[in-house]
Amino acid sequence: MGLKEKAKDILLNRPDPKKISRGALVTMLQTFLQPARCFGTRSEKRFSLAAYRHGSKFFKGGRSVFTSLFTPVEIIYAFELLPFPLEPLGALAASFGISTQLLQETEKRWLSSDFCSFHRAFLGACTLGLLPRPLFLMATSHACDGTMKSFSHVAHLVSKPLFFIDVPYGDQREAVEYAAVQVQESVSEIESITGRKLREDLLAKSFGYSNKMTALLSKMQDARKASPPVVYGSETLNLLMVWAMFAGSRVGVRILESYNNEIEARLKRGFQGVAAGKRVLWLHLRPYFSGSIMSMLEEEFRAVIVAEEVNTPVEEYLDVSNPWESIARKLLSRIWSGSIENRLKNIGRIIESHGIDGVVHFSHWGCRQSNGAVRMIRDTVAGYGIPFIELDGDCVDPRNYSEGQYRTRIEAFFEIMERR
Ligand code: SF4
Repeated sequence: MGLKEKAKDILLNRPDPKKISRGALVTMLQTFLQPARCFGTRSEKRFSLAAYRHGSKFFKGGRSVFTSLFTPVEIIYAFELLPFPLEPLGALAASFGISTQLLQETEKRWLSSDFCSFHRAFLGACTLGLLPRPLFLMATSHACDGTMKSFSHVAHLVSKPLFFIDVPYGDQREAVEYAAVQVQESVSEIESITGRKLREDLLAKSFGYSNKMTALLSKMQDARKASPPVVYGSETLNLLMVWAMFAGSRVGVRILESYNNEIEARLKRGFQGVAAGKRVLWLHLRPYFSGSIMSMLEEEFRAVIVAEEVNTPVEEYLDVSNPWESIARKLLSRIWSGSIENRLKNIGRIIESHGIDGVVHFSHWGCRQSNGAVRMIRDTVAGYGIPFIELDGDCVDPRNYSEGQYRTRIEAFFEIMERR
């Protein structure tokens, strides 16, 4: 039995969290991160290893906190605890080939199959008892309202408190104050659960790392404006997970430094590794059980993804002299917060700054938050005179995947880009 099969066996037949901590987890992470064509070097290895170590500590329990994708995990690090984002578990399970079983677990319990499968996958994992019990859960209402429902359910399953930050619409003074108060209240609750006061020096350290990560991501995205590109987008789309897991930690800084160093080295020596014909902007996520769409687009058709909207840096820096408000501002500055205009403006900015030839939106089934805006995105992109394509499917559930259909659509999209 190979390592991958062994890991599957452990996960599916013996759902004991302690047994998952070694082989299964590292295999899942490596498969998820895909030994990349270019970044199969130091950066990806560093990321894989860091995620594995983090996961191992998490499975040992004691200091674990379940978080959502945009939880301000800097606070968790300042308490010297370990954040573990639940949504990416769906992606991990998909890349490992076990997402169907997790989803079926929720289907058996009559959970609607039109609810986002990222949420359903971790609900399945929690129902099966695959995850260790956390100290508490901390989540935010963005990017989607599914978080409130699924995290409440998990909190009930593990009998632990959930601290939920309702991120309001808009960025006016009242909105910042409303979010800041909730952040502050969550911190007080964490203090009473852990029996520890939040230390200002640890918060300053965590904010420092987070700000450094923001600067590094901006630098990296600037470098990706280069022509020809120096990295495939299918390799960098996963960077979203670095934030969810490591924002506010030294590990996060090191991972992004590593990516930046490799990009810089390639720019200096005239890297020939990524052969680009057309430059693509990728919107939202991708299927994680198969890399075929990405490799079709980037390798076969040489239409390289030079930017992903999920990796847009939030240029809002955290300030330890005004911590709750600065966290609130950061939450409100994400492109998923507030009016759709924020997202549209960001798309327009990237099209102009990165010399984009075409835009792909992957519409993940069940994601009303992202898919509801497709018509407006299509119109915005049309305003720039470049083609737009909507690919739809499920990022986690492989059961309805049809590679042939994607091929036909990507071919047509590529031909339109070529004709321009
Ligand atoms: S894909 Fe959409 S619905 Fe699912 S977790 Fe992300 S934002 Fe929420």
